[in-house]
Amino acid sequence: MIHSRRPTPGRRTAQPGALVGAILLIGMAGCIPPADRRPAWVADRSLPWKTWIAGRSVEGRSLECYELGDGPDVVLLMASIHGNEPAGTPLLQELYDYLPRHPRLFAGRRVVLLPIANPDGYARGQRHNAHGVDLNRNFPASNWTSSNGHGGTALSEPESRALYELLQRHRPRRIVSIHQPLVCIDYDGPGEELARAMSATCDLPVKKLGGRPGSLGSYAGDTLGIPIITVEFDAGATWLDGPTLWSRYGRMLLTAISFPQSPP
Ligand SMILES: [Zn+2]
Repeated sequence: MIHSRRPTPGRRTAQPGALVGAILLIGMAGCIPPADRRPAWVADRSLPWKTWIAGRSVEGRSLECYELGDGPDVVLLMASIHGNEPAGTPLLQELYDYLPRHPRLFAGRRVVLLPIANPDGYARGQRHNAHGVDLNRNFPASNWTSSNGHGGTALSEPESRALYELLQRHRPRRIVSIHQPLVCIDYDGPGEELARAMSATCDLPVKKLGGRPGSLGSYAGDTLGIPIITVEFDAGATWLDGPTLWSRYGRMLLTAISFPQSPP
């Protein structure tokens, strides 16, 4: 069982005037910025997950991946490609704990987790990577544009290159990427059926947000033809701990894993 992984306040050095700020913050209960609510990822080496590193971030942090099972049906579940949308990470932590105890879920398939796709952004509580690039606009989809924050070229960033190579090497048949705060389940490529099956397990409606330029959805879904789901929790999900997120969205993830069958 995963022990207490309630979001904990980040450590910050006290600054002059911090006391005044702290008093103000106490007065604004519930308004601490998401940067201060990032749960740590805990890799439990006693679990049978195979661990590997997909690449390194601008600042040298590893993009750790965890893999369980074997077989042609590869499912990739990832979170926090936008570092200020952290709720998917503690949810994947629950999945990481749950899955090894339920081998029927990964029989004949390989489940790959990338819990923190933008580790520098996650560490800073910011959307972009350390170069100020939105990684979810940096993929070589046909709609990529050179706007500010998209990177000088597609795949200009080490994190997006790592993900690109991961897709080439592992060829997932389904991808789930967890974001906030748009409160829906979006899909790209041939993902509608999967989106509807996932939506039926929770309170998130299927909504087509439209292909964003150079997004992972546009690249994986439209260019590679892989069903890809963009899950959008609400902003408040940042405040929920792993067990609460799991009680709301665990079944949704298991549905994505076992699709088109229902989870056992
Ligand atoms: Zn996002």
